[in-house]
Amino acid sequence: MRRTRVVATIGPSSWDWDNLKSIFDAGADVFRLNYSHGEPEQKTELYQKIRSLETEERTTCILADLPGPKLRLGEFSGVRLLTSGETVRLLCGKSNHEGPELPVEYDGLSAELNKGDSILLADGLIRLSVSETGGEKSSFIDCIVEDGGPLTSRKGINVPGTMIDLPAIGEKDKLALSHALEAGADWIAVSYVRTAEDLRPARDAINAAGLHTPIIAKIEHPAALTNLHSILDAADAVMVARGDLGVEIPLEQVPLAQQNIIDAGLMRGMVVIVATQMLESMTLNPRPTRAEVSDVSTAIRHGSTAVMLSGETASGNHPVAAVETMIRIASATEEGLVSSGGTPGALSKFRSTRAVAHSGVELAKMSGARHILVATQHGNAPRLVAGYRPDFAVTAVTDRIRAARRMNLLPGVQTVMVDEHERGSHTMQQAIRNLAANGSIKSGERVVAISGSPLAMRGATSTIRLYRLEADGTISGTE
Ligand code: PEP
Repeated sequence: MRRTRVVATIGPSSWDWDNLKSIFDAGADVFRLNYSHGEPEQKTELYQKIRSLETEERTTCILADLPGPKLRLGEFSGVRLLTSGETVRLLCGKSNHEGPELPVEYDGLSAELNKGDSILLADGLIRLSVSETGGEKSSFIDCIVEDGGPLTSRKGINVPGTMIDLPAIGEKDKLALSHALEAGADWIAVSYVRTAEDLRPARDAINAAGLHTPIIAKIEHPAALTNLHSILDAADAVMVARGDLGVEIPLEQVPLAQQNIIDAGLMRGMVVIVATQMLESMTLNPRPTRAEVSDVSTAIRHGSTAVMLSGETASGNHPVAAVETMIRIASATEEGLVSSGGTPGALSKFRSTRAVAHSGVELAKMSGARHILVATQHGNAPRLVAGYRPDFAVTAVTDRIRAARRMNLLPGVQTVMVDEHERGSHTMQQAIRNLAANGSIKSGERVVAISGSPLAMRGATSTIRLYRLEADGTISGTE
């Protein structure tokens, strides 16, 4: 079974039902909806379409990616070609504008810049240098185009080395977050995190809604590298968002930053997603470059638990082929990979659950069990077990569809849904019977089951049992 998860970003190339179905059937584990584009309500239908793909055997998982305090150009029509050497004026505080000037949504940008500063547009493809700022209430920035290129509206703006004074969760993020929570997103990604505090508004909103939706911290700003450990302590998962990171820090520093982020995530047994430009050339071509294949494989070998497709599936010419290619690379890499055996521990949250998870993994190793079942209500216990990267099957047992959906991003975790029985052991035996019926557990095999007590899912995780499926279909080791 493939353990590495594949995340596919959904956009105009993939949001019709046939493409969504092909992407799901090809094996994509997670659908990423990018709230930087379009109005939140426009995504409602997309949630419905994605959920309609669900079958008895397979749930869908939706990752809602919030826009974050990222500077963007406003709206303008068509494609604007910037030529090196020309002068261009940016108008601050404008969400749309037609004419030779370019609109910039943030009204405070001019005041934060000095002559000679660099401004990068469209993930750094276009570079400007500031020649003058001014106007009433600092309303314009005149720039010389250093590296030109084509530009369309809403492209990102980066000003490397500047800590833009925008709140972590602004008005757009609030709207996006409340839409995502209402629509039932399974994971929330917070963009442009700079400090651990930046995650608090999202966490508070999730708690206030009575939900347990886990948070992914996107690492794409230099301050996040400085504050990496405290940010990861406050998050549930981490994304190496190389698109912006590669503009905010020198490109050649991105590979080592990626490794440091993966290592910091591994120490905590976290989900680590490596993102952006993984199979970039497949945006246009049906086959990737050798270097791209190697990049995906390297990210997996270095310990990332998920790899992400962005433009390849959102706006590319070959969205389904990109997913198939990613899966082939992940599978081939894993075949030659011995379990990296994560060692989460001291740095983790949920310490008592972690201790039980650790003991369960050790028991499975010592007893030769090939399966570990983990009862869960919200997905935390399986997440902690998966953090040890055991090289045997991990099955989450739950009665909640929300938890089952979330699990699709956890490395190597499959899910069975069962009813909660009064006695925890009955719930776990039912799960073993279900897995025996579909051939996942064979007679003679040992199974470690981790659950709460006395109920399997609702009690605090505290119980470990060792079972054996006998040849006559009975389960021994029960009380
Ligand atoms: C990135 O910058 O790599 C990223 C994933 O973020 P976004 O695509 O939202 O800019």
